[in-house]
Amino acid sequence: MNQQQSLPPSATHARLLAELQELARARGLAAAMRALFRQQVEAGFVLFDPAAADALVERRFAAEGALPPLRLQWNPQRELRLDPQLLIERGVIAADVDQSLLVHRDERGRGCFLCRHNIALQAPAEVIYPLELAGEPYFLGCNFAPITDNHFTVIVEQHRPQRYHAGILRAGFALAVATEGQFRVLYNARAGASILGHEHQHATDVRLPLEAVPAAPLLHQGAGLRIAQPTYYLPVWLVEGERLEAVLQAGDRLIQAWLQLDPVHHSLNLLQSYDPAPGTFRLYVVPRDRRRLTAPGRQAAMGSFETAGLVVFSHPEERALFDTVDAASAPQLLASIAPALPPAQALERAMLDF
Ligand SMILES: [Zn+2]
Repeated sequence: MNQQQSLPPSATHARLLAELQELARARGLAAAMRALFRQQVEAGFVLFDPAAADALVERRFAAEGALPPLRLQWNPQRELRLDPQLLIERGVIAADVDQSLLVHRDERGRGCFLCRHNIALQAPAEVIYPLELAGEPYFLGCNFAPITDNHFTVIVEQHRPQRYHAGILRAGFALAVATEGQFRVLYNARAGASILGHEHQHATDVRLPLEAVPAAPLLHQGAGLRIAQPTYYLPVWLVEGERLEAVLQAGDRLIQAWLQLDPVHHSLNLLQSYDPAPGTFRLYVVPRDRRRLTAPGRQAAMGSFETAGLVVFSHPEERALFDTVDAASAPQLLASIAPALPPAQALERAMLDF
């Protein structure tokens, strides 16, 4: 599958894309992304407007000490993504696709939802925004069942599995920098990702609770690099600094040490941000364990938004839990998915000879 085989966008989409690219040149990529998201809300591709006052219900729990407040979100509209009739009406999927034309089909004949070739054939209302990140072709698409306003899926052009490699960190920082730090980038390895066949990340311009933790206590400090293990609801490492290569190298080293300790069960969530004022790159690594994908009483696996402190409830059976959680039990939602093996074991290994 290469780019030449992809269908060209429709004339309407091509015109819209040209306007967005002009906007990006004049006012920056972040402005173009927000304009695209608005267009996709108005076109109905994004199934509901997350910026509408009544779209999302939120409860916040301030914790004691320096912990950032946890945010719990009631977002029943995310369940709309399971309604095939609605998806057809909104142009999220086409009704009459010749499946033989689709690439990377699963056992049920459905084509990969993140392959550009398939999007052109089976998602008629979706407008994608192509760009290059860290020297590789990517494209952005609006998340049609968003968790926040301006919630994007960041999709690598090549169809390859959702499996951690250092290039994911490079692409994440490239997008954060390209938006002048206005968008942060999130990644779910095999802990919270629903499409495992095609590598992708998420981006949002909404600041998440985890970003409020300070880089302390420090485990290591070097030139343009700080590694910290902040106090949080579950184990997390913060790798930050002004030297991109040093942050990438240290982050990859920590992640690899965690994955290698138990390659079958260990996974991770990532959050990457960029602060343009001092030029600081921040990588938050949340070590995960596939045997603890979600909290008791919740349906879906918890991913990077949840571990970053925004816990989404969308299933009808979760409503009672959402309503009854209190300040004492809210932190347990995250504490209950802490890995079985203490991440300190990986840390010790990764920090040797640092
Ligand atoms: Zn694909």
